[in-house]
Amino acid sequence: MKFGYSEVCLDHDTGARHPESPDRLRAIRRGLTKQHGVDYVEAAPATEAAVRAVHEDEYVDRVKQFCADGGGEWDPDTIAVEATWDAALQSAGLAEWAATAALSGETGRDTPFSIGRPPGHHAVYDNAMGFCFVNNAAVAAQTALDSGDASRVAIFDWDVHHGNGTQDIFYERGDVHYSSFHEAGLYPGTGEAEEVGEGAGEGTTLNAPLPSGSGDAEYADAFDQLLVPALEAFEPDLLLVSAGFDAHEHDPISRMRVSTEGYGVLTDRVRSLAADLDAALGFVLEGGYGLDTLAESIAMVHEVFDGREPVQPDGDASERAQIIIDRTAKVHGFGEK
Ligand code: ZN
Repeated sequence: MKFGYSEVCLDHDTGARHPESPDRLRAIRRGLTKQHGVDYVEAAPATEAAVRAVHEDEYVDRVKQFCADGGGEWDPDTIAVEATWDAALQSAGLAEWAATAALSGETGRDTPFSIGRPPGHHAVYDNAMGFCFVNNAAVAAQTALDSGDASRVAIFDWDVHHGNGTQDIFYERGDVHYSSFHEAGLYPGTGEAEEVGEGAGEGTTLNAPLPSGSGDAEYADAFDQLLVPALEAFEPDLLLVSAGFDAHEHDPISRMRVSTEGYGVLTDRVRSLAADLDAALGFVLEGGYGLDTLAESIAMVHEVFDGREPVQPDGDASERAQIIIDRTAKVHGFGEK
């Protein structure tokens, strides 16, 4: 794969005990040193105009000033230093690169994956939260639409948390499809199956709040039964994966049980679906807080694009998970005439 990376993203210093630390990117890079066919690309930072295209002007002014004043606790989870604003623009710029590279035909072993931080999917239209300041995937999607190279963009969010920010920004939009598989009851508490979008965006938001303990079989079945019909109907030109790795069975922050191999299974499905839909495909890093599991999982994504065929999960989704999958399918009318 081609990985979008910049050292500017290391300067966002969240303090000694914060799970969202620069060590995450260092661990990913270490994990990739054993792989072949890894390329790094340092993309330009996003412009402020690109950020303002998906965030409220007043919020952008406020967060920029907050960083210029030295930062601090925006909220107890969301910590900034002076360098955070530049890191946030850089992280968004890397996500834009992933979208642009995908749309310009980078595919197969050249598939783009932006490994920026701070992450983005909790950043709502008018606020920072959950370690996120600028919604990187949203900036990338909007830039792709504004470029004219895509008229419909889908964002599939497999981070263990609901991407409330991405949902919020595009909730009433018919040209952006947002889907999320997340652990029910976890931060930030949104993402019920019944949240489907409004107005022109009705039906373009899909949420599967899976029960804790869900693993490879649950994610694979949710993918086949929910994401495939949703995106076959939506027909995106570009599919961006908001790729967090905190649903990993050894991640310290969740109780989900996705294995490293399971991320390979999901990657393989995403790749097949994008190919079937003739959609460009790019990945944008979100969460993932076990340094070893984060590194291993991203190496697995890379390996799948390098030709590895992941081992399919045994058996079907648990009954508890299947109830949620069925509920989401019903809310969206999948399988009905
Ligand atoms: Zn997360």
